[in-house]
Amino acid sequence: MIHPEHQRRAYLQAMGIDVWLPRDAAEPDVPGDVANAAAVTDGLDWGALRQCVADCTRCELARSRTQTVFGVGNQDADWMIIGEAPGAEEDRRGEPFVGRAGQMLNEMLRAIGQSRDTVFIANILKCRPPNNRDPKPQEASECRGYLERQIALVQPKIILAVGKIAAQNLLGSTEPIGRMRGRAYELNGIPLVVTYHPAFLLRSPSQKSKSWADLCLASRLSAGGTA
Ligand code: URA
Repeated sequence: MIHPEHQRRAYLQAMGIDVWLPRDAAEPDVPGDVANAAAVTDGLDWGALRQCVADCTRCELARSRTQTVFGVGNQDADWMIIGEAPGAEEDRRGEPFVGRAGQMLNEMLRAIGQSRDTVFIANILKCRPPNNRDPKPQEASECRGYLERQIALVQPKIILAVGKIAAQNLLGSTEPIGRMRGRAYELNGIPLVVTYHPAFLLRSPSQKSKSWADLCLASRLSAGGTA
């Protein structure tokens, strides 16, 4: 198989091999519309993908992060949970959802008979935005290929998008979360349900019953049922 140059470089980078280019070398042959992480993560296995993420300098967040936050859990999970971006604690520990919101997420998982070990947890962004600001569209798009490859490798039965940022980014929507939750979507042929972010549920516990309904919907869809 012949790999395009940009993909060959990604493989070499993932294997820890430096690629030196002559100073006057032409720009890499990456067409503008595929010059994103999706193009370079095609076909990567878990190890190569993890290394690619750890080495990533595709956006400015690489300069302020302590470390990348790849994702955690069961690589063959039925459930994939996708949040927004690492916060301060996640940036320090290199694991998603380990702060207070993480404890709330753990409770949500327990309620549906799952745990951090049975699901796979990832974020739209692998690096912490400074001061926990919202991800910029360009950051989300540079990072998208890593998440797409994670989804392709896990092949979950259900994706649970937690929070507005995750839902809007995954579905390319600008709808408010109140209208997105409670419905069945699909991403790459995989059922997807939107629910409130655990940090929001900590602030607004009265909304937990709606989130519970979303989790029940997701459970039904993961078992092959309908909305
Ligand atoms: N919030 C998120 O969306 N992701 C994390 O990893 C932590 C908090």
